Amino acid sequence: ILDMSLRFIEEDGNDYQVLGIAYDLTRVRQLEKMQKDFVSNVSHELKTPVTSLLGFTETLLDGAKEDPETLTQFLEIMQKDALRLQQLIQEILQLSRDGKNISYNDQEVSLHPFVQEILRSYRKTIKDKHLTIEILGDETITYVTKYELFYPIVKNLIENAIQYSQIDGTITIDFGFTDMFYFIVNDSGIGISLEDQERIFERFYRVDKARSRHSGGTGLGLSIVHNYTELLGGTVMIDSHLGLGSTFTVRLPIK
Ligand code: ADP
Repeated sequence: ILDMSLRFIEEDGNDYQVLGIAYDLTRVRQLEKMQKDFVSNVSHELKTPVTSLLGFTETLLDGAKEDPETLTQFLEIMQKDALRLQQLIQEILQLSRDGKNISYNDQEVSLHPFVQEILRSYRKTIKDKHLTIEILGDETITYVTKYELFYPIVKNLIENAIQYSQIDGTITIDFGFTDMFYFIVNDSGIGISLEDQERIFERFYRVDKARSRHSGGTGLGLSIVHNYTELLGGTVMIDSHLGLGSTFTVRLPIK
């Protein structure tokens, strides 16, 4: 905001003062544009599975359901579409939490069992890709944090490391304390170019849309990581090299 005032005396001897206020609307416009882009991205992402669902139900109702093989095949596709919708909605809701209106309670998290529980839900992919996973953090480490915000951070980083690892890859997960609590996920996967590193925390940004969508990605995971880390008063950093792998480091305050 620019505030100016001008004072002058006219020939008639009267004293005049002119007041002017100019608002810089650039930031407001930027926010408006971001909001519009977000809504249009959300609509686009939601439309794709819904269109597919409608197409398959119509074909089934038109008679395709009489063939048991086609029926099973179509139902499987429809289930995938529904799961995708479920994930999108869940992540969009997660992103809309701003933390100001909700008060989360602190919980003590035992890191080892916590990480192992998350890994368990990806055991099929870990097995199929023949991944080696090493947990370096001490067995006894516990960290007091707002679980509802902490869990999605860790889950998304581990999920990405698994998703973007190649066959026979190695993932290391480390956590502990310095002046802050740190949580590090390192993978020997496809890596991210410097150019893309600048954008991957943006909502819906994906380096390779087709690859990400194919593996169930929404492009929202890292924006959630970024938002929640900030809400917890911490930072997230990336160190990555194309073809060599990536390291994500989250630092959070100690209570
Ligand atoms: P997605 O649901 O597509 O994984 P994210 O927001 O989690 O969305 O990540 C954004 C993009 O950043 C991904 O599409 C992928 O291209 C890239 N990315 C994220 N994590 C990694 C990783 N560990 N290795 C390589 N690329 C990654």
